[in-house]
Amino acid sequence: MVQLKPPDTSRSAIEKFVQTHLSHLTDTPIAGSPSIRGGQIAANACIASVDLSGYAAKRNEVLPLSARGATRLSPYIRHGVLQLREVWERADGSPAKDKKKFQDELLWQEYARHWYAALGQKTKVPTKKKYLNKEGSTEWDTALPCVKVAVKELETHGWLVNQARMWLASHWSVRNHQDWRKGEDYFFRHLIDGSRAANRLGWQWTTGIGSSKPYGFSRWQVEKRAPGLCDQCPLQKMCPIQDWPTEPMSEAISAPIGIDNYGPLTAVEVGKPTTVWLTAESLGDKDPALFNNPDLPAVFVFDEPLLKRLRITSKRFVFILETLAEISETRPLTLYLGRPEAELAGIPLTVTHAPVPGFQKYKKKLNIVQTWPWPWLCEPNGAPIHSFSSWVKKARLP
Ligand SMILES: Cc1cc2nc3c(=O)[nH]c(=O)nc-3n(C[C@H](O)[C@H](O)[C@H](O)COP(=O)(O)OP(=O)(O)OC[C@H]3O[C@@H](n4cnc5c(N)ncnc54)[C@H](O)[C@@H]3O)c2cc1C
Repeated sequence: MVQLKPPDTSRSAIEKFVQTHLSHLTDTPIAGSPSIRGGQIAANACIASVDLSGYAAKRNEVLPLSARGATRLSPYIRHGVLQLREVWERADGSPAKDKKKFQDELLWQEYARHWYAALGQKTKVPTKKKYLNKEGSTEWDTALPCVKVAVKELETHGWLVNQARMWLASHWSVRNHQDWRKGEDYFFRHLIDGSRAANRLGWQWTTGIGSSKPYGFSRWQVEKRAPGLCDQCPLQKMCPIQDWPTEPMSEAISAPIGIDNYGPLTAVEVGKPTTVWLTAESLGDKDPALFNNPDLPAVFVFDEPLLKRLRITSKRFVFILETLAEISETRPLTLYLGRPEAELAGIPLTVTHAPVPGFQKYKKKLNIVQTWPWPWLCEPNGAPIHSFSSWVKKARLP
């Protein structure tokens, strides 16, 4: 059992903590994102600064940075530091077109969570069709500035605008015929907001294996969304992405059968908890288990065997620790490095249900005496999850 004392909230203390205790779990040099800070204070500042005027027109802009309309809320949303409902309400008072577009994007996030709750590990395989030819280059074409700037931003900052995610995913799979799962894993390692739900959905949607047709990445999108970038390109006169890629050969597959990992819709209590178990899905001060048990100490386990396999970059560790360090200033918090089922054995726990397969696995092995429902934006109601448009028609919208 390795029990760790939370570091103080400074970036330098946290990077030192990661270097000392977690460096065997990551391959990149230890450094937080230069532009994204973890914690409730940073999350509250980020949401307070959101100005959605012009969002609909600007959310897809890539460069220059000043033209971007994306909010960068995703790392906080991903780790439950902000909940979708409060972000949804933040759009009130914005111009109607921008409000609609923004809330539609939040519904995509919510849909990804429902899709993943219903399919779990079945989302590892394509959900609509599979490509038949998988031979292709295994490198990014970094001679192209459009690819290079996106890869560099992802690897340095741990974040990308949606448009650049689509460029890379399409370039990787549709044009270069590389295995989409390897690309998805690469994103997952680097993105601070990386979630199997939204990332796998994004890859399946962009590459066409989970949608009706692939998104084709070509020069005109770069000229439109990052004007001037092609002027710097050594290949501008023989652009390899001048035209749309041809869609790889594919065959239809049958839709996977759903499972149910939506969790309870009201709190379930079978005993008296002594400790709040925090998971990486739910690290905000409004996390239901934390919020409803203000006097209990909390615990977080870095799942060593899982993290050894995933190889996420230190940017995500720093983000999570910045959030945990702040929590430790408000109540006793113990950190462990090991296996959750061993570190938490026997402790009467309270936790917020997380609609991801890992939670299901541990739930059975732990002494959870109080479970809080996941804070859904759209309470599960059996709406079909095979496509966003079918789901949104039937979902219980806020
Ligand atoms: C290949 C690919 C991989 C992706 N991987 C992830 C991922 O791992 N984690 C993740 O949170 N999002 C992922 N997305 C979705 C989307 O790109 C990001 O949520 C968005 O870019 C985050 O930036 P933002 O907060 O500024 O978004 P904004 O445009 O400001 O939108 C606000 C919020 O809406 C949600 N949202 C916006 N667009 C989408 C979308 N297309 N799908 C789902 N939710 C959306 C996010 O929660 C986002 O924070 C992926 C998209 C693609 C195409």
